Amino acid sequence: MMKKNLRNLKYLLCMLASIALVGCSNAGEDLDIGTESISTSTESHDVENVDETAENAKAGDASADGSTTDASAATSETSTAGSFSGDLASYGLDTAKLAKEGIKVEKEIAPYGVVLSTEKEYACPFCGTVLESHISEAFQLDSKYSEHALKINEELRGKMSEGLKYEGIIGGQSEEDAYDGIAPSLPADDSECDYHKEEVEGNPGAGSTFCDEVHIIDNRYLLIDTSYYYYTGGVHGMSSADQIIYDLSTGESLKAQNFTKCTEEELKALVAEKVKEEYAKRPDDFYAKSADEAYKDAYDIISFDSSNIFFYDDKVTYRFNPYDIGPYGATFVDIDFSYKDFSGTDTLTRIK
Ligand SMILES: [Zn+2]
Repeated sequence: MMKKNLRNLKYLLCMLASIALVGCSNAGEDLDIGTESISTSTESHDVENVDETAENAKAGDASADGSTTDASAATSETSTAGSFSGDLASYGLDTAKLAKEGIKVEKEIAPYGVVLSTEKEYACPFCGTVLESHISEAFQLDSKYSEHALKINEELRGKMSEGLKYEGIIGGQSEEDAYDGIAPSLPADDSECDYHKEEVEGNPGAGSTFCDEVHIIDNRYLLIDTSYYYYTGGVHGMSSADQIIYDLSTGESLKAQNFTKCTEEELKALVAEKVKEEYAKRPDDFYAKSADEAYKDAYDIISFDSSNIFFYDDKVTYRFNPYDIGPYGATFVDIDFSYKDFSGTDTLTRIK
């Protein structure tokens, strides 16, 4: 009840905000409403793509490229995957050491670098059932692109290791422990083993991290499109995505907020307004029963923290995860807008 009231309040506030704001490029300046034409070209991702990712992840097929988007495949800055037989020295990598750690070179993303891949399985110590299976990928930048490449690569390999951590998502950690914030651990006794053998055997939980695409904008910003797949039991898993951003001139890891003066409320109003337009074109991709409801659903969920903002050469995309604002069949819902709307600039420009 409380939650519903809060939602309604937020809705009211955002409706008010939407009257005043079209984009956030004018933040702090005179408002200039309605003169910018808003780009609404949005590509819908087909269902097969995500299902394929899911199937591959479940089957432990590390060759899945996990690709859920081809949004910028046409731009010259975007590269595609291929096999790699080159030298790893320019990545600060030692082939023998990688092999010892169970890490392999999964693919090349020419000309920028390579993708490493590693896998880990966790079995119940009592019945031997595999409870979780992880696949984790990390992009490695060719050092010719930045004097900070080796530091960046080390951080990216650190993220890859994080992706292998046991999460206790099926048959391990109890729900109470999870709510208490206790770190996930393998089962402490055999009390769950009947469940392991009946339900989990051959169908382990999965936590996968895939490096899908890499872009470099303005010879300065490295953008790594990353997608995640989790399987926690049931019919199918959950997918999410984010873009890892580095400033190649400083080696810093950046967030979307580094590129805009937009407040979170302005971001919400900007994206939700586009969702409303998109709803009119393909209502079946949304839970909402009306355009205003689609606006409200989107407004509630949009945030800078959700990491769903993707930068491309010629547009900014807010990528809603499956289930965020529409049913699973609609998969990711991409809402595109211009750099003008996002930051009042012509292209990706760091302002802080
Ligand atoms: Zn067991």
